[in-house]
Amino acid sequence: MTASIIDGKAFAANLKEEIARKVRILKELHGLIPGLAVVLVGEDPASQVYVRNKNKSTIAAGMNSFEYLMKDDVSEADLITKVKELNDDPAVHGILVQLPLPKHINEAAVIETIAPEKDVDGFHVINSGLLATGGDGMVPCTPLGCIMMLKDQLGSLSGLDAVVVGRSNIVGKPMAQLLLNESCTVTIAHSRTRNLAEVVGRSDIVVAAVGVPELVKGDWIKEGATVIDVGINRIEKDDGKTKLVGDVEFDSAVLRAGAITPVPGGVGPMTIAVLLKNTVTAACRQAGIDEPT
Ligand code: NDP
Repeated sequence: MTASIIDGKAFAANLKEEIARKVRILKELHGLIPGLAVVLVGEDPASQVYVRNKNKSTIAAGMNSFEYLMKDDVSEADLITKVKELNDDPAVHGILVQLPLPKHINEAAVIETIAPEKDVDGFHVINSGLLATGGDGMVPCTPLGCIMMLKDQLGSLSGLDAVVVGRSNIVGKPMAQLLLNESCTVTIAHSRTRNLAEVVGRSDIVVAAVGVPELVKGDWIKEGATVIDVGINRIEKDDGKTKLVGDVEFDSAVLRAGAITPVPGGVGPMTIAVLLKNTVTAACRQAGIDEPT
């Protein structure tokens, strides 16, 4: 069997088109322009690229983009003041503070300052609580993108055995919760899991969010399983150049899986598209209007 490749780029492009259409409707019918504010602290080149891409995509969708660049040595108090200003700004419907933050800043304190209804990253404890209890909060972008791709691929996920490898607050845990909400039987694996190969081998759905290049071996994958590879790892090739690989050994997994996301071009492109989707949802909720269908 050779797996079908889940094309995250095409999926994200469709989603962005749908968002742009909704934004046009919101403008025409309600005079509402969803606005996303991104706060970047410091000059980390990877974060700068993410923020630039977010800004471009937000504008391309017809939304307002607000970008705030703060120096590496900004105090926690000043950053929190900025977040509070954005909480009070009616033109801003979504706030994203680019992580990681410098060591002297308490990330949790900053995230908990974001108004939960503007927390388009879905990291606020109120939003993780709502996700855990079946409420209607903001859901973290990467796991939400993964579940959208899985449902598109498989239809109902009910009753399927799923494993999430990784238990971070931003990917692994919300991913497991989303799968549980879809009535999967969910296993969460992590660095202390015994016999990961066996756990992966009995799963119909494998989501890898570890950050270890090609940790999940292709011959562990159950025949026909759907594999979602969240990992983004830059490794050096024999010729000294670098390339991106996922957390799954793609070349061998593709021979056993039913469907698989590539790296790059799988989960990655979905994250920004879902961020825009969350911003539109947040704007509609704050304005008290139904989101266009
Ligand atoms: P974290 O480092 O926060 O978490 C990694 C998890 O993997 C931990 O729970 C850890 O277990 C587990 N782990 C580490 N080593 C092993 C192992 N040998 N066996 C099993 N589990 C292990 O990472 P993130 O969740 O933030 O990110 C994971 C990956 O996803 C990264 O490559 C990141 O770049 C990528 N990513 C991609 C995104 C996108 O596509 N847009 C967005 C976010 C992340 P333990 O808890 O026991 O330490």
